[in-house]
Amino acid sequence: MTPRHAYVHVPFCRHRCGYCDFALVAGRDDLIDRYFTALAIELGRLGAGAAEVPRLRLDTLYLGGGTPSHLEAAGIDRLFTLLGRSMEPGPGAEITCEANPLDVTAGLVKAFEAGGVTRVSLGGQSLDANTLRVLDRDHGPDDVRRAVDLLLHAGFTVSLDLMTAAPGQSVAEVEADLAAAVDLGVHHVSVYCLTWEKGTAFESSRRRGAMKPVEEGVERVMFETAIDRLEAAGYEHYEVSNFAKPGGRCRHNEAYWACRPWEAFGPGAARFDGRTRTTNHRSTTTWMAKVIAGDDHAGDVDTMTDEEAARERIVVGLRRREGITRETFREASGFDLDALVGPSIHRWVAAGHATDDGSRVWLTRAGLLVSDALWAEVLA
Ligand code: SF4
Repeated sequence: MTPRHAYVHVPFCRHRCGYCDFALVAGRDDLIDRYFTALAIELGRLGAGAAEVPRLRLDTLYLGGGTPSHLEAAGIDRLFTLLGRSMEPGPGAEITCEANPLDVTAGLVKAFEAGGVTRVSLGGQSLDANTLRVLDRDHGPDDVRRAVDLLLHAGFTVSLDLMTAAPGQSVAEVEADLAAAVDLGVHHVSVYCLTWEKGTAFESSRRRGAMKPVEEGVERVMFETAIDRLEAAGYEHYEVSNFAKPGGRCRHNEAYWACRPWEAFGPGAARFDGRTRTTNHRSTTTWMAKVIAGDDHAGDVDTMTDEEAARERIVVGLRRREGITRETFREASGFDLDALVGPSIHRWVAAGHATDDGSRVWLTRAGLLVSDALWAEVLA
């Protein structure tokens, strides 16, 4: 099946936030030209431009990073000009671009409009000055407010990222962040709990005892508070970390969770053809060097068996609040849900972690809170 979805990774950031382990380079704008050269070559894989090969027609395009908005208006224009040679949005396509609050200017908004962006995902993380400082972010609460106002005024669908469990953060501070996000009137909120990734500055501070994670019990209260507050404000909790006003779901992520095939370009970007996930080399400089030299630039190739693909479909399906419909699952995977995980489903229902109405299975709130342990059971 030809993919109708594409992801493009833009690996540039002004500085690396202490908790971040994404594939990116910070303070290396000197590499931007070379990045465009490599990206143009990688896009050549689609073959578009040859007379008989049409451009890839997309339902969704997601520009993530890093920080795509770090390219500024001129770089965003350049990016869309390049992408437009190989892909084209179909009618009503969703085009998302991630942005950092400090980058959002009237000029950037114009470049987004010219490129056809419909949705902006803003890395706000918090509206509390102290939390932003602790998180090592380079913007303040007013930058988030100003950016959201500009983007909403321009008519984009706006998604705001919020982070919980920052060191020292209280439940009351999370509540205040949620209230502030609701007041801003964004269409979509993604709530992520801080994770302590190996190799990050935060993780080494934690090991030295200089930073202390929030207790697990408090983390759970924060997560439940997010669900309560956002649902009360009219946001649908449609996936573990994601909340949307009616019509505001991220269609691109929904394509991932439905295991549809997608294309991906850029360092660390992973593409999926329905069976094989191919992840580009994570290092920006290695990815560029290999692509430009014409070498294989895949860092990892993971080909699943039919059963592995079906099990993965269960995990991503159960991350969505609507869960999995037995019939749809059988049609899409060729497997019977109960033959694969029937005993697990019985156990989850008995423990109050899932609901099963005979045709559909979905996780309860209690199930979502322990979902990582449930996934381990499905993938075992
Ligand atoms: S701005 Fe985002 S991608 Fe860049 S370092 Fe910070 S968290 Fe990571």
